[in-house]
Amino acid sequence: MIPLDLTTPAFNLGTVTVDPYPAIRRALARPLYDPDGAEFQPYYAGIIGKLRAAFRSTTAPMVLQGEVVLALEAAAASAIGPQDVVLNLASGHYGKGYGYWAARYAREVIEVEVPDNEAIPPEAVEDALRRRPDVTVIAVTHHETPSGTINPVARIGAIAARHGAIMIVDAASSFGGMDIHPEACGADIFVAAPSKCLGGSPGLSLVHVSEAAWARIAANPRAPFASMLALKDWRDAHLPGRALPFTPSLPEVNALDATLELYLAEGPERVWARHALTARAMRAGVRAMGLSLWAAEEAIAAPSLTSVRLPKGVDGDAVLAEARRRHGVAILGGQGSTAGRLLRIAHMGPTARPLLALIAVAALGHAMTAAGHAVDVAAGLVAADRSIAEAISTTHQQEGT
Ligand SMILES: *Cc1c(COP(=O)(O)O)cnc(C)c1O
Repeated sequence: MIPLDLTTPAFNLGTVTVDPYPAIRRALARPLYDPDGAEFQPYYAGIIGKLRAAFRSTTAPMVLQGEVVLALEAAAASAIGPQDVVLNLASGHYGKGYGYWAARYAREVIEVEVPDNEAIPPEAVEDALRRRPDVTVIAVTHHETPSGTINPVARIGAIAARHGAIMIVDAASSFGGMDIHPEACGADIFVAAPSKCLGGSPGLSLVHVSEAAWARIAANPRAPFASMLALKDWRDAHLPGRALPFTPSLPEVNALDATLELYLAEGPERVWARHALTARAMRAGVRAMGLSLWAAEEAIAAPSLTSVRLPKGVDGDAVLAEARRRHGVAILGGQGSTAGRLLRIAHMGPTARPLLALIAVAALGHAMTAAGHAVDVAAGLVAADRSIAEAISTTHQQEGT
């Protein structure tokens, strides 16, 4: 017998950054344009046009040449000046982390913090602004990926607008997987990633900046220019007669073109629907096995990721290793404050497929059992399968087929 090589997992349900859609891999191998040549500007302007369509925004977005962390830090450096008071909203690892960047540039950072299985209550934002009317910038992470929880950014955006503050939103792991767009949620700076729900390759940041944010950046004497952290440098870089500030990563630009093309061609609503259905099936399976979701309420659980609370006494690393060894399935542990307390199954982009929830439930259930916490895998599979079948038959009824 030839032993199976499971060192490369058959299904990577941990992160999509390593497994983009096949069309993206092919795009990475496309010939490269000369960025100074005549063909490049219209090609690049076309990509910005596709991103604008995906963002559903009225202004031209930008692409920064680095993983989303670059754009998040650039937003802090550009929009937060020495006069600003920042209200940082921390419901987990990334939100908490943003406060440290904000503090590097702001006069003062104040924080609303909630436990890492909860969402920020909009009322707490109202309260904080009543106490501190001098707040000028609000920073929030939409999907706290280490927890799998969603913050109500549209409600927070409405509060920010009434107050006259700008809102910076990290939507790295939610944009493309659900109905979230920069202008619709009132974000002034909105950062998304090609490599999460859009199923592309990592390496670039997708950024929307509102007119109000541009005005603040223009008024900030410390806003960087001629710098990797400069938003300013990229504002008009796609226009005819302009050059990009420096040579871009050309294969990543090609991959982004293909990523946006796929998303728009499939239809965003359809893409969100398969994220939502996969999440629903996954959660039905998790609950039927007697396990608990990490999110305090299902209403705040992300459609792009399911976090499962580790039962007391269970070694999470052992469960991950078993899932990989026995099933060839890679799932994730926690990150930051959630490390050792939960397990995560991502359903983003190519892995937002309802039937993959069955694979994930089987792998998780068997691995949990092997690690000493026996669960009813069959009950989990039946529940996940039923939830998919119900959703599909409802869709057929609605479409009259
Ligand atoms: C993935 C992600 C980032 C980027 O982090 P990396 O370490 O570059 O992957 C930023 N914010 C959120 C919410 C994310 O999920």
